[in-house]
Amino acid sequence: MARNHTMMQYFEWYLPSDSTLWDKLTKEAKHLENIGIDVVWMPPAYKGAGGVYDTGYGVYDLYDLGEFDQKGSIPTKYGTKDGYLNAIRTLRENNIKVLADIVLNHKMGADETEEVLAVEDDAQNRNYTITETKLIRAWTKYNFTGRADKYSSFKWNWTHFHGIDWDEKTSKAAIYKFYGKHWDENVDKENGNFDYLMGADVDLNNFDVVTEFKTWGKWYLNLTNVDGFRLDAVKHIRSEFFPEWLEEIKKVSEKELYSVGEYWSTNVDTLKNYIDKTNGCMSLFDVPLHYNLFRASISNGEFNMSSIFEGTLVEKMPEKAVTFVDNHDTEPEQALESWILDWFKPHAYSLILLRKDGIPCIFYGDYYGILEKNVSSKKNLLDNLLKVRKNFAYGMQVDYFNDNNIIGFVRQGDDEHNNSGLAVVMTDKDGGSIEMNVGKRLANSVFYDCTENIEKTVYVDNEGNGVFYCKDGSCSVWIKKT
Ligand code: CA
Repeated sequence: MARNHTMMQYFEWYLPSDSTLWDKLTKEAKHLENIGIDVVWMPPAYKGAGGVYDTGYGVYDLYDLGEFDQKGSIPTKYGTKDGYLNAIRTLRENNIKVLADIVLNHKMGADETEEVLAVEDDAQNRNYTITETKLIRAWTKYNFTGRADKYSSFKWNWTHFHGIDWDEKTSKAAIYKFYGKHWDENVDKENGNFDYLMGADVDLNNFDVVTEFKTWGKWYLNLTNVDGFRLDAVKHIRSEFFPEWLEEIKKVSEKELYSVGEYWSTNVDTLKNYIDKTNGCMSLFDVPLHYNLFRASISNGEFNMSSIFEGTLVEKMPEKAVTFVDNHDTEPEQALESWILDWFKPHAYSLILLRKDGIPCIFYGDYYGILEKNVSSKKNLLDNLLKVRKNFAYGMQVDYFNDNNIIGFVRQGDDEHNNSGLAVVMTDKDGGSIEMNVGKRLANSVFYDCTENIEKTVYVDNEGNGVFYCKDGSCSVWIKKT
């Protein structure tokens, strides 16, 4: 029986640095399968510059998955290499596919400095050089002595990078571009050229670097047996790189690899362009939808709800959209803070979990809460909506997006899933009702609100028509009473 796919991002920014996440995930694998999760995105598993305090995005050594005594510890923030492999194996035994988080744009925490000739580029327009060439001292030598050449003897030096953000000689932060280097052309155009993001920017035009990343990718895939990737910071990497890299490392795997990229842009045409340029080798997170949901949540009822999907990837290119509500970067006090307010989370999750398009990704910080920031768990809400997704969110979808405040949609169910079909009504302002048609299959039946916002039931007539309600500022999900 065909089931809806559902992804979960299994980490948030403020997890304690106690190296226990892999073990928790292993223990929870069965539960995740039961609630309908069939894809888990795991955080970067390699040793970061900050050791156990590093989320993994400050990549130090791609070959150290919590195996070597480097950066102050053997384990990473999330656990040891064995714990990681065990979690992946357990998830796969529970019919859950695993996506590994791949961070190739930059490196941090070099072992030594080097003297390098460099210029400073204008931070707001990186196509514009603002100084003469000068000698700086850059943290660009990576020796990995703690690993002692196990798996790879590749050592990094300044020639493998485009530039860096710190001169140790003058203790000055700036965008330094190394002698003879050029920022990649096919990257995002923000700040003139957005090749440089942070740390030491990897030169993905350097032949030795590209070869090393292909070697590493094959090693990683062989070792972990993951089912695909979440690709970090793709707008800061020349667009030709990932199609080539994925094509090459696929050679060591018999399975179809699934990839989703993080291209942080609210412009859907930019996202579509990138998908076209990369020959559809990856899906993208629906960043425009996230921002629509965010704006709706902070607009005090003044958001035009009928435009909630306007300009989103799931509207324009549904087969390539991974929809999400929040993630580790949108959390309170994070780089891209745009946290969707509590009252709107039921609306937001209904809009990604109960519709036919996109692969929805639920966030660890919503499911378990964010202890550090006193954000409460939405487990009850999510368990309920996930159950509805798993059992009822099937069949034809009809939208009733005709009002600034109250919108609704139905799924008319299918033959494969008994009693499937549903009706959703939500508002960002005053409550009310919409007459909707749930189809002939569900004619002459009684519907109830499984969110328990509304006690009374709704009768669906012999044509499949019913009048469905929601209360002020809320979202109700109606399914057939059996
Ligand atoms: Ca870059």
